[in-house]
Amino acid sequence: MKSQQEINFPVGIRAALLGAEKSTNKVKVGAALILHKSNRIIISCNNSKSSPGAVKWYKYYDQGMHAEYALFNRSLLDDLPIRGTVYIARRLANLATGLARPCKACRTMLVDLGIRSVVYTDYNNTYIEERL
Ligand SMILES: [Zn+2]
Repeated sequence: MKSQQEINFPVGIRAALLGAEKSTNKVKVGAALILHKSNRIIISCNNSKSSPGAVKWYKYYDQGMHAEYALFNRSLLDDLPIRGTVYIARRLANLATGLARPCKACRTMLVDLGIRSVVYTDYNNTYIEERL
């Protein structure tokens, strides 16, 4: 059952949680970006596969594709602009939320793409807004 806090999550966090539920990784993380002009939401999840294009940001990482990078990949595929706030959510096995703060490589990538604000889940169905 969804907690009362979860029902009050911003729509971007709820969309990112839908992404997290699609993840086949042990650590289930989703990301979402709301495209206000077209009324669309891009949703992604982390992935055990890597991507050659990710080398620029993930040089020192070997953790597959993070949800934030998968979001960027998806926007490229559909030729959609990355703009605004990126939402990131992590779903724990007990169905509560977990900390989904972007890692250093994702933060660098998001800043390079012009993203200046992120909202991510923390433990116990809470969330944090942060300027990059
Ligand atoms: Zn990351």
